[in-house]
Amino acid sequence: MAKKIRQVLGISGGKDSAALAIYLKQQNKIPEMEYFFTDTGVELPEIYTFLDKLEIYLGQKIIRLGSKKDFFHHLKMKDGMLPSPQQRWCTKEMKLAPFEEFIGNDECISYIGIRADENREGYISNKKNIKPMFPFIEDGLVREDIFNLLRETVGIPEYYEWRSRSGCFFCFFQRREEWIGLSERHPKEFARAVEMEKQEGGEGYTWIQGMTLEELVDRKDEILTNSKKRKEQLAKRKDNRSWQDILIEDGQDDENQACLICSL
Ligand code: SF4
Repeated sequence: MAKKIRQVLGISGGKDSAALAIYLKQQNKIPEMEYFFTDTGVELPEIYTFLDKLEIYLGQKIIRLGSKKDFFHHLKMKDGMLPSPQQRWCTKEMKLAPFEEFIGNDECISYIGIRADENREGYISNKKNIKPMFPFIEDGLVREDIFNLLRETVGIPEYYEWRSRSGCFFCFFQRREEWIGLSERHPKEFARAVEMEKQEGGEGYTWIQGMTLEELVDRKDEILTNSKKRKEQLAKRKDNRSWQDILIEDGQDDENQACLICSL
């Protein structure tokens, strides 16, 4: 008998993958869907609350995957080299590898929440047995549809109040004002990021180009003022999208580089 094709959906903790899970659940076409979340162990705290809400709505466990070793073990293996957009070992080792191990050699369809109004490719597995599918693109769902789906069900993830994407608390894709948001909302995690910058990063290393996190805090007022001005300028030119989406869609953010498995 032919082996069943597995149907999987990776929940990143972000809005699009959550909305996709809800969308497909409402259609009830794939009752055997396996939901999974790859946990680095250093995720934003709000993500776990959001996953709990989503599990209740889906009526099903979201399987927690993770690397067998924690982030700091991997960091040691990389000779203390903190991850960065150029050296993104974090995604490979802590997100993609556990996913590929979970699938093994099984034939599988992996559902991905890229929207019809996006023009980007994600960081997805290249394994031949994993076939990606993009239901939002096929069905023409855009950003507003995604927000509506969330508002009507589990709500929008709380961290959207101050950060544009999910993922690790120290993710190097976050903007300066988001680092400030981290310092205010999660001072312990921010303090850890400061320590990592000093200890593991070593002489001259900074999470943000040209500025340490301590310098960032000293320049908080200036950074927030500039950020506010930028958002106002963008809002004048644009419509009523959120400031996060305006920045992303106007190419002022690194969303295109962010991995789907981390932040979609
Ligand atoms: S969220 Fe950021 S830091 Fe975490 S694995 Fe993804 S790219 Fe790396």
